[in-house]
Amino acid sequence: MNILFIEDDVIETMKLHRTLAKLGLKHEITEAKNGEEALKVLNSGTGLPDIIFLDLNMPRMSGIEFLKILKGHDSFRYLPTVVLTTSQNRADLLECYKIGIAGYVLKPLKYEDYAEKLSKVLAYWEANELVKK
Ligand SMILES: [Mg+2]
Repeated sequence: MNILFIEDDVIETMKLHRTLAKLGLKHEITEAKNGEEALKVLNSGTGLPDIIFLDLNMPRMSGIEFLKILKGHDSFRYLPTVVLTTSQNRADLLECYKIGIAGYVLKPLKYEDYAEKLSKVLAYWEANELVKK
């Protein structure tokens, strides 16, 4: 799958790449460090991702601000967006579901748990028919 990974923390991005390599999964990852950068990627005309993984706490444009713009857009609104966060804040969770997300995944602190959870999320989305083919 073509995944747009929106995350400001370089360590988290490295962790994703390391985990995909370890699991032997060949997904195409496009990185964006915040919502603003992610919108630039989406508007660049280089093709849309199959799925978006979204962090919430980011500088410049937060995950929730990005989500509002995404869901207000004629074609971007259909892209399945999964929040990947450490925020256990229930208000964040409710706000995200209210705006429209495909999932809200809490990142486990332990690496093994993270890898297992990520593989499940990816397997679930691979089993789905996606908007963008
Ligand atoms: Mg962050």
